Amino acid sequence: MAINTSLKKVPMPAQDPLVRNHNFKEVTTGYTPEMAVEEARRCLNCKTKPCVEGCPVNVHIPEFIHLITEEKFEEAFQKITETNSLPAVCGRVCPQESQCEARCVRGKKGEAVAIGRLERFVADWHREHASRPPEKAVTNGHKVAIIGSGPSGLSCAADLAKAGYDVTIFEAFHTGGGVLVYGIPEFRLPKAIVSDEINNLRAMGVNLQTDMVIGRILSVDELLEDLNFDAVYIGSGAGLPSFMGIEGEDLIGVYSANEYLTRSNLMKAYNMEYATPIRKSRAVAVVGGGNVAMDAARTAKRLGAEKVYIVYRRSFAEMPARKEEVEHAQEEQIEFLNLENPVRIIGDERGQVKGMEVIKMKLGEPDSSGRRRPVAIPGSNYELDVDTVIVAIGTTPNPLLKKTTEGLETDRWGCIYTKDNGATSREGVFAGGDAVTGAATVILAMGAGKTAAASIDAYIRHKKAALSRTEI
Ligand code: FAD
Ligand code: SF4
Ligand code: SF4
Repeated sequence: MAINTSLKKVPMPAQDPLVRNHNFKEVTTGYTPEMAVEEARRCLNCKTKPCVEGCPVNVHIPEFIHLITEEKFEEAFQKITETNSLPAVCGRVCPQESQCEARCVRGKKGEAVAIGRLERFVADWHREHASRPPEKAVTNGHKVAIIGSGPSGLSCAADLAKAGYDVTIFEAFHTGGGVLVYGIPEFRLPKAIVSDEINNLRAMGVNLQTDMVIGRILSVDELLEDLNFDAVYIGSGAGLPSFMGIEGEDLIGVYSANEYLTRSNLMKAYNMEYATPIRKSRAVAVVGGGNVAMDAARTAKRLGAEKVYIVYRRSFAEMPARKEEVEHAQEEQIEFLNLENPVRIIGDERGQVKGMEVIKMKLGEPDSSGRRRPVAIPGSNYELDVDTVIVAIGTTPNPLLKKTTEGLETDRWGCIYTKDNGATSREGVFAGGDAVTGAATVILAMGAGKTAAASIDAYIRHKKAALSRTEI
């Protein structure tokens, strides 16, 4: 089939910005089969596969795209899932522009091949047309416990279940999915996709136990010693929000982004049929410049706020959020107050937020992260008229597992120390994802889950071999 020489990606259909900023339906609606084939024809099927090197789980990119050009969509899905168990998720939320697509040769002159959009298309096609759920592997008689059902726990569980392990995931919340469910909003990642992925894992024999806080109800030591799990994988994420430490953060109307998004996404505060309370805001300031800040701001707009500001102390160039998310937020009338920083949150006589004092900033010399350090401009303070403040400046791992697990070492931010293979300082205990790296990305968390699954398999086989030598 002839190569499509267009320098531009086939555009992604999307809801009108001024309609979608009043609903929670998915922003982009996905390629049709014709669009997918047209975009797939832009791929040069490069022998050296530079795009694959940019993918943390090494998806067989040229191969799956070639199958799309032949309209073999189910085969394309099977090709992707050889290395990636959550393609419908990754196709939507991976920072492709800095990973697979960053390495695409078509990107040297024009736009890269839309690898993420094609991955999403294939996964959605499979969801609509798949006739049977995945099969259960023959059991090998060994048990593995996984703490946390975010992307890293789910991908570790999928690989171990495929290898015949009896896998139990213990999840603190009442439903599985981690940040995919409680953090990333419905309008970016429909929750039905995550529950389908979890149902597939169930069909593979994985047991998901919800409302199980490990470290409170059971400890890691009990899992290993009393419940006879051969190994434990910790994929508990980094869900503890950081605050700015400024005056007024205890006022009514100040939220961490995690709490705000959890109320809206997991506890469906946007749906009148649910009783979850959430503030009816008139004007909202979201502090931060990452994906979490964009999600919180766009959620606040959809919940009815007239004005929503992103307050970020650097400029657009340093903003860590995905470019596409920043553009979507701008289209949805989120106002960006870049090079500005909160000084204090101002309360009224009832202890409710009535404004935020902000100071303007300029960029100085680069700091240790390589980004130019923001410096306050004296006397530039002013009061921003807001009744809600959402703090989205980062998260760290919850210290509960460190406190309750014998011999589990962490660094000073509470991130679990591991070797490259995911092994922690405690024998039989492995870890990965945000619990190890601090807040990062879905695909890195999944990559860590896969690495640990292979290491757990090797560890259990080695232990079994050593045991049988002793018995002889
Ligand atoms: P998590 O997804 O955090 O899952 C951990 C799970 O462990 C949770 O369900 C938690 O309840 C459970 N848990 C914790 N402690 C215990 C315990 N003691 N016992 C039992 N269960 C426990 N990344 C991207 O790549 N693209 C994006 O667009 C993007 N947007 C994001 C938007 C938001 C709002 C947020 C918060 C993050 C975003 N990220 C994004 C980051 C990404 O979601 C995370 O890096 C990823 O989810 C980490 O996966 P994980 O499995 O390590 O942890
Ligand atoms: Fe790209 Fe993410 Fe898919 Fe890898 S998993 S090919 S990084 S979209
Ligand atoms: Fe196709 Fe781009 Fe990968 Fe080459 S680098 S195989 S053009 S996706």
